[in-house]
Amino acid sequence: MSWADEVAKRLPSMIALRRDFHRHPELSFQEKRTSEIIAERLTKAGLEVRTGIAKTGVVGVLRGDKPGKTIAWRADIDALPLTELLQAPFTSGTPGVMHACGHDGHTAIAITAAEILAARRAELPGTVVFIFQPAEELLSGAKPMIEAGVLDSPRVDEIYGLHLTTQDPAGKVNVRPGPTMASGDGFSIDVVGQGGHGAYPHLSIDPMTAAAHILIGMQSLVTKEVAAKETVVLTVGQLLAGTKNNIIPDKAVMRGTLRTFDMNVREQMLGRLQSFISDMARAYRAEASMEMTMGCPPVVNPERETGLVHRCAAEELGESAVFQGNPVMASDDMGLFLRERPGCYFRVGISPTHDRKVPHHAPEFEMNEDGLPVGLRVALSVLTSRLRA
Ligand SMILES: [Zn+2]
Ligand SMILES: [Zn+2]
Repeated sequence: MSWADEVAKRLPSMIALRRDFHRHPELSFQEKRTSEIIAERLTKAGLEVRTGIAKTGVVGVLRGDKPGKTIAWRADIDALPLTELLQAPFTSGTPGVMHACGHDGHTAIAITAAEILAARRAELPGTVVFIFQPAEELLSGAKPMIEAGVLDSPRVDEIYGLHLTTQDPAGKVNVRPGPTMASGDGFSIDVVGQGGHGAYPHLSIDPMTAAAHILIGMQSLVTKEVAAKETVVLTVGQLLAGTKNNIIPDKAVMRGTLRTFDMNVREQMLGRLQSFISDMARAYRAEASMEMTMGCPPVVNPERETGLVHRCAAEELGESAVFQGNPVMASDDMGLFLRERPGCYFRVGISPTHDRKVPHHAPEFEMNEDGLPVGLRVALSVLTSRLRA
């Protein structure tokens, strides 16, 4: 069966919900209003609802009247620290906060899927666990949700989810087996020297010179210590030091991110970075230490479940709507869920119809809402087919 008619009926409600979340975005671990609305809607639909998981996470359990598997659907709910530039009636009403990654759409799709399936509880086999995760943008919400046992009671067999993307056109579904999104680690390096007068560097230990050599030198770890066929990105996005042109500061701070698709490469790089930065600093008589600020593994989709999602999407939308895109260097802590259970994380196009492709995390970010019913149809198709399996 196709979900087209059912989804068409719920479309105005889903769009209104997405726009409401868009109008009222909330930052990671502060999704108070968002989680209240999620809980309210799920409770009204008759789900068992648990709130306050990992601060602002919500879980809704929908038990069908027939026996079947237990399948989880994960949606992330947080917004970003940006001021929106788009002019629309539902433009963010909170200056400095904006849904610029599409998580408002993820939340609206998951709530609507829960409402549709709850209305068919009598014919539904098994149990669906809807997981609304906070703080994806900090790569910090999945871990405490898993630790709180959201995959354990009831015990989840498989987990699925989607990310909307402006990189693909509306109507298309991008399903890829294997590594599909990169690991993401944040690091902060303190280089400590000894401050002094800019005229007498020999009487100081200049932490900025050491930091500059560390910054350049780190790239040789990528090119000289990792096999050429692997993918590694090492970016320093912040370099903070000094107060005046003729003062040598006593400290420089460097913050960056490391991305790769392979856990062994990730471990290798993190291990080498530690020793490389301290050895390099010592060469300039400085001291350096590194702290990891956040991190998650790559998103790796197992072959079997990914094939099943591909089939469901093709049956629902037609084969021409489904394709296998390239892996992306963006990260998502859905990777942690997929290390615990088999499943698949796929992408659904929301590219605006005009030519300009605006990236996520930009103040001009714009969603083509035509992608929302597409995502919902695939979600329903995947959930019902996996419950029955
Ligand atoms: Zn994002
Ligand atoms: Zn996102």
